[in-house]
Amino acid sequence: MSPTVYLISGANRGIGLAITSHLAARPDTVVYAGARNPSTATELQALARSLPKNVYVVKLASADEEDHKAAVDKIKKEVGRLDVVIANAAINDAYATIFDTTPDEVREHFNVNVVGPQVLFRETYPLLKASTATPKFVIISSLAGSVSLNPGMHVLNGTYGISKAAVNYLARMLHFENEGLVCFPMHPGLVETDMMKALVANDEALKDIPLIPTADSAAGIIKVVVESTREKDGGEFVSYDGSRLQW
Ligand code: NDP
Repeated sequence: MSPTVYLISGANRGIGLAITSHLAARPDTVVYAGARNPSTATELQALARSLPKNVYVVKLASADEEDHKAAVDKIKKEVGRLDVVIANAAINDAYATIFDTTPDEVREHFNVNVVGPQVLFRETYPLLKASTATPKFVIISSLAGSVSLNPGMHVLNGTYGISKAAVNYLARMLHFENEGLVCFPMHPGLVETDMMKALVANDEALKDIPLIPTADSAAGIIKVVVESTREKDGGEFVSYDGSRLQW
């Protein structure tokens, strides 16, 4: 049986690293794990060394077209296709009202969180089309990108929320524009990572929020991704437990 070939961005820590570890433990699975600084991605490099036939580290800085072209060239030469791409890398570090956030901070959130997945899609789509299964492009988004589920808009990460609402739209567009592709945005749960710990430390309203371990988020995400179909999940806003979320 030929392996399922994955590419994931932001794989050096947090949810991305947990997804990579989870996938690496599955049979018949090869993971290309993106990190913007492979030389400092210590845990990811150790995982790749321990599973040299399952995990390959590639350099991927969000929205950097040259990095993406080089990674795709390598994957094309080595395996000739991609079956699943997971756009996971993101930032969330403007803890202020929109008034107190600079336009440069908004641009940077858009660059990493929206242009990043767009570039990843553009560069990997030719290899996804070469998939021997149903190709899947999944974007790790956030509940923060839902307008209807944030009625009070009282959380202090509006800039991040704007970018995640935009990437939800992007994912839904990709579903409708690309026949045969399974594409959807996914909320990974509220997860104990550097990103969430920093947000909680900067926002009193979140101090008692229960967080789940990265391994639980990763297991849920991969179960949903493996079982996803275009008919069931394509163009929908999906949670890591398989439920549907409102936009
Ligand atoms: P972390 O902050 O722990 O990890 C973020 C990852 O993204 C790191 O690997 C980081 O790499 C990478 N990254 C950031 N900027 C860039 C860049 N410019 N180029 C390439 N890689 C970059 O976050 P999480 O693991 O918590 O988040 C993963 C995903 O889940 C994100 O899309 C996030 O929005 C989403 N999410 C998380 C939630 C949570 O509760 N944790 C809730 C809802 C959504 P580096 O180490 O180089 O910075």
